[in-house]
Amino acid sequence: MQKIRVLMLEDMATDAELVRLALGRANLPVDIRCVADESLYREELSSFHPDIVLADYHLPDFSGLKALQIRNAEKPDIPFIFVTGSLGEERAVETLREGATDFVLKDRMARLGAAVTRALDDARREAAQKAEQVLHNTILNTAQAMIVALDEHGRILHANTAAVALARPSETGILGLPFWDCFAEVRDLEQTRLKILSLTEVIQEAETVWQMFGPRGRIIVWTAGSLHGHHPLARWVLSGIDITDQQHAQEKAYFLDHFDAATTLPNRRLFQLQLQQYCDNAPAGAKVQIVTVIVGLGRIQDIRDSYDETIIQKILMEIVQRLRTWQVNHELLARLGDVDFALAFEVEQNSDLESTLPFILHELHEPIEVDGASWVIPCHMGVSVHYPGKKPSLLIREAEAALHDAQARDAAYVCYNPHLSSKARERLQLETELHQLIQHPEQLVMYYQPQVDATTHRLIGLEALVRWRHPRLGLMLPVRFIPVAELAGLMPALGGEIIRSVCRQIADWQQEGLSPPPVAVNISADEFSSPDLIGRLKEAMTDFNVAPHNLELELTESASMKNPEQTIATMNQLISIGIRLAIDDFGTGYSNLSYLKRFPVNRLKLDQAFVRDILTDSDDLAISQAIIAMAHQLRLEVVAEGVESLQQLKVLSQARCDHIQGYLFSIPLPGDACKAWLQQGVVSPTTPVLPV
Ligand code: C2E
Ligand code: CA
Ligand code: CA
Repeated sequence: MQKIRVLMLEDMATDAELVRLALGRANLPVDIRCVADESLYREELSSFHPDIVLADYHLPDFSGLKALQIRNAEKPDIPFIFVTGSLGEERAVETLREGATDFVLKDRMARLGAAVTRALDDARREAAQKAEQVLHNTILNTAQAMIVALDEHGRILHANTAAVALARPSETGILGLPFWDCFAEVRDLEQTRLKILSLTEVIQEAETVWQMFGPRGRIIVWTAGSLHGHHPLARWVLSGIDITDQQHAQEKAYFLDHFDAATTLPNRRLFQLQLQQYCDNAPAGAKVQIVTVIVGLGRIQDIRDSYDETIIQKILMEIVQRLRTWQVNHELLARLGDVDFALAFEVEQNSDLESTLPFILHELHEPIEVDGASWVIPCHMGVSVHYPGKKPSLLIREAEAALHDAQARDAAYVCYNPHLSSKARERLQLETELHQLIQHPEQLVMYYQPQVDATTHRLIGLEALVRWRHPRLGLMLPVRFIPVAELAGLMPALGGEIIRSVCRQIADWQQEGLSPPPVAVNISADEFSSPDLIGRLKEAMTDFNVAPHNLELELTESASMKNPEQTIATMNQLISIGIRLAIDDFGTGYSNLSYLKRFPVNRLKLDQAFVRDILTDSDDLAISQAIIAMAHQLRLEVVAEGVESLQQLKVLSQARCDHIQGYLFSIPLPGDACKAWLQQGVVSPTTPVLPV
């Protein structure tokens, strides 16, 4: 048993002995230091670490009361018992008031053992309680949640650090103030007051949680718990969690998901939802009809090729402004695609529509002044009319089909009817089937075309080219369905399936012991700017255990220039993961060298158009040579596409083109047919077998 360290303040040796005896009789193991003056007392108090002080009241050079005061100041937790001769009642009370733990008269020494034991037990209990209290306070004050205790009048009795930090500041501190004064937004004071005061009645589980605005616009979810009378004053404990940041993040995600960031108009997804509501709410049997009009702007791509994107933005904003004047009541307005806007409104009868449409077109055709220049933007319109039971998604697609018809025939507007030109109908049919394709990605088949070193013919890459094994129409080439899928906004999803299919093929080859070179995948503009691109790539690479350097992404030059800053940011992310990048169809678009310098890409793909006529058209040869030289300056490799003859190969090698792709080496073939190239590592030029 550990000895009890006793600091005894006593000048009489006999009395000290009596104390010792009394403790011994009580079977208390003790280690006693006896002192009689102030300086020794102070010294032992700090160096001996006594568990208890036993002090005589009367000392020749010191006083027991003074010793008590010193203990109060320096070691307030050590129990202090007076062991003294007579002590008048008044003094006894005074000593207790000063903080003495107990007193034992010298002629009642038999009580000492019990007094010491009790004093030590109490001290231990207090120390434990204190530690517990510190623990509680630390937990409360380091909690992110705001915690306050309220009395029955809603006044604050306790508040943790987080709560104090949130509360509206008050000079005198917040304790004692009503909860609502400190934690409710000013306009909600009364409502919050009633809420708190009625907690007694509503303290049913569900209603004790509520959300409210607090100081500085913070949004807090409060939960109230009752103390059920276990505390003399506190009635409720409220804990609050600040959800402002989550709420804002959710709002932002919702915005990005449902609106076009550039114009803040609803996007296709929101438009579809709004249109659904609009149609649902239309009074049944009324004479009004809901029409959907899609406006397609012309020329934008041409302007984009030669001017800065800010001009385009200004032109688009002016168009939006003009379309907005059309929105008087519940009319809907949205941006469906880069150059497509949608309106939906009610018309009384057909003649109404026929007067309205030219009016909108007329407005849109008025010249637009931007930075001192004047632009006329040609536009066409496609219209569809709602009838009960028709799905809004169909309304949009019909209007789009009508728009394509209008564009093809250069008609101002076309109203959808089932007798639209066969081309427009086929398109609509194809689009419907593309929606189903997402559910059947196995209908997508990937073909691969080799890319070789221009001089050694070593296999250095493969380009993945998608085909659609169409249930009705057989194997379909991408030119027929990719543009439709792009316009319908389906490319991000289809592209995801393409990436998975390519990764699966790479894994299959690797499992057969082959080491495929990097495989290039074509990425559409929408797919590239989709926030899911990186996630989809990572997921596919993980699922099939494919390394990033096995993949290259091809983005066309025109797609890369749509939003160059955004393109650079995404490219940097991809490069940092280790995925390679190439600019496709280079030379056709508006090549902005300052951006090209900043695009962190590995390769440029010289557009087929230059290669096609390279032997006959000296301009094409000169442009190709210039592009190759410039790319090398920027440390980029160049791939020439569409190489069909040995003469073309020769001219391109002389121009120092690095890599060659084209029918001369092979047409694109299914994955299984590529194994020979992978095994041999080189591909020989052949007489091209043109694809059927
Ligand atoms: P691209 O990316 O420029 O692909 C090259 C196209 O040229 C391919 O057509 C290829 O078969 C063809 N080609 C290759 N060598 C020669 C040649 O020597 N002479 C000629 N005349 N043509 C040659 P394909 O497979 O029909 O693809 C057409 C376009 O469809 C591609 O052009 C690309 O823009 C798009 N595409 C193909 N696959 C995908 C894909 O998986 N995703 C996306 N977003 N687009 C794709
Ligand atoms: Ca390509
Ligand atoms: Ca190309």
